[in-house]
Amino acid sequence: MSNAVFNFPKTYNEPVLSYIKGSPERVKLVAALKELKSKKADIPMYIGGKEIYTNEKVDIHPPHELKHKLGTYNKGGSSHVKQAIQAALKAKPAWEAMAWQDRAAIFLKAADLLAGPYRARMNAATMLGQSKNAFQAEIDAVAEWCDFLRFNAQFMRDIYADQPISDPGIWNRMEYRPLEGFVFALSPFNFTSIAGNLSCAPALMGNTIVWKPAETQIYSAQVIMQILQEAGLPAGVINLVFVEGRTAGDIIFNHPDFAGLHFTGSTGVFQKLWQTIGQNLSLYKSYPRIVGETGGKDFVIAHPSANPEAVSVALARGAFEYQGQKCSAASRAYLPASLWPVIKKKLVTDLKSMKMGSPEQFDNFINAVIDEKAFDKITSYIKQAKKDKGAKILVGGNYDKTSGYFIEPTVIQVDDPKYVTMCDELFGPVLTIYVYEDADYKKVLTILDSTSPYALTGAVFANDREAINLTSERLKHAAGNFYINDKPTGAVVGQQPFGGARASGTNDKAGSIMNLYRWVSARTIKENMNPPLDYRYPFLD
Ligand code: NAD
Repeated sequence: MSNAVFNFPKTYNEPVLSYIKGSPERVKLVAALKELKSKKADIPMYIGGKEIYTNEKVDIHPPHELKHKLGTYNKGGSSHVKQAIQAALKAKPAWEAMAWQDRAAIFLKAADLLAGPYRARMNAATMLGQSKNAFQAEIDAVAEWCDFLRFNAQFMRDIYADQPISDPGIWNRMEYRPLEGFVFALSPFNFTSIAGNLSCAPALMGNTIVWKPAETQIYSAQVIMQILQEAGLPAGVINLVFVEGRTAGDIIFNHPDFAGLHFTGSTGVFQKLWQTIGQNLSLYKSYPRIVGETGGKDFVIAHPSANPEAVSVALARGAFEYQGQKCSAASRAYLPASLWPVIKKKLVTDLKSMKMGSPEQFDNFINAVIDEKAFDKITSYIKQAKKDKGAKILVGGNYDKTSGYFIEPTVIQVDDPKYVTMCDELFGPVLTIYVYEDADYKKVLTILDSTSPYALTGAVFANDREAINLTSERLKHAAGNFYINDKPTGAVVGQQPFGGARASGTNDKAGSIMNLYRWVSARTIKENMNPPLDYRYPFLD
């Protein structure tokens, strides 16, 4: 099938279904939730295409319903990491030799399986395992992962089509080889689509992968593997292991064939991994590619010319959807005194109207935070804020972990714009607000820019064009994704390529062509159609 230059199917964003009462998608989703809850899963690792079960079974519970057991996963150790590396290296020659259109077809098929027969199961697994409501699951696990799969296939073709010019008698070509060795995909808990993308993006470019997900995302990780297997992904291309991060790191970062790290997670972990890779550099056959999208302390700043109602809604959605556990979630806001009374009234009313509980109850906007560690960390800041004089809890502030890890959407107003919850990433349903005097807008821009080491997302609300331009310019390096009159979350693949700067990551823009370039090492080929037969140049005469 190499005797053709293939066209590519038109790429599009997967439509987000509404899940309104009575809709066919809601009926299917409810049935899938019921089915998953009626069973006890026993989730294996997938190494070299084989399902691997071990004697170490770890229970999986929904974060919002701790007494229910969804099943177990099979925990592995060092030997499984070694087997996964071997399987990846064994699968590599055939996989990288496979024609690009066949690799694309596998991932395009995976997208269609996900959008079709697997849609309800994938959403149900994400809702139960990661405590997302139906809409949050749909925009992540289905829509965004479909988009990653489809857009990346198109980007791959665009990369391959990018060829150098040639002088007469010469044919220059560029071959986009996968990296030599294997790639380590290390994914976080909060987005099923990211877990899918960290492993699939390098695989699409001809690499083979050892993938370790977060422990709390394993329930939906299995659905990812099931879809990929059904789509025809050959054995060993993506090997999924359930081991401690350190166990994986100890083996992988000491392996000569380690060729790249595709990471999303916290800044502290990423910095440690980078240090380890740096220390081990002389061990590797090539310089490993390091791609890491990490933490954020994402801001909303409103100018006095802003629409206060729009600001309030952006804060309600941007800070509290998925319990604030989005890397892009608004967690600090700078609001002008003149607009504050209107914003505050609407925000407090809206937050009080948000119901909290299981995602199986469709009217719950707020569900549980991911685990006890996250619960304890987030609530420790709330406890402290209750004690601190310069901090006032405007709404929320209650929490309970008896049946699930529930924390009310909480707003803290602070006197000091550098108060700890304006600086640290809490990664939970807590928004901190600093109200400034209208005349101090420019000063506040300077404070905002220097408050946190992160630079992931941020938003300005204003109707005054000069203010928008000033803010955009002054905060140029404060966010990799900058929003004007919109909340700072909800980036869509192909529309707003995603990634931050400063301590927020390498900014290789997931879901864009830039990311895929990191997973290839180009080989330039020059072919001379008529090589010279005499070493003498004419000038020698
Ligand atoms: P995390 O850093 O705790 O974990 C990420 C992955 O690294 C997990 O698989 C974990 O098991 C593994 N890990 C942890 N310690 C390790 C070690 N010492 N060695 C090897 N592996 C190790 O992150 P998380 O809690 O799962 O996710 C939340 C974080 O991710 C937040 O900081 C959030 O901002 C960030 N995030 C960023 C983006 C982005 O695009 N910038 C997107 C999503 C999440």
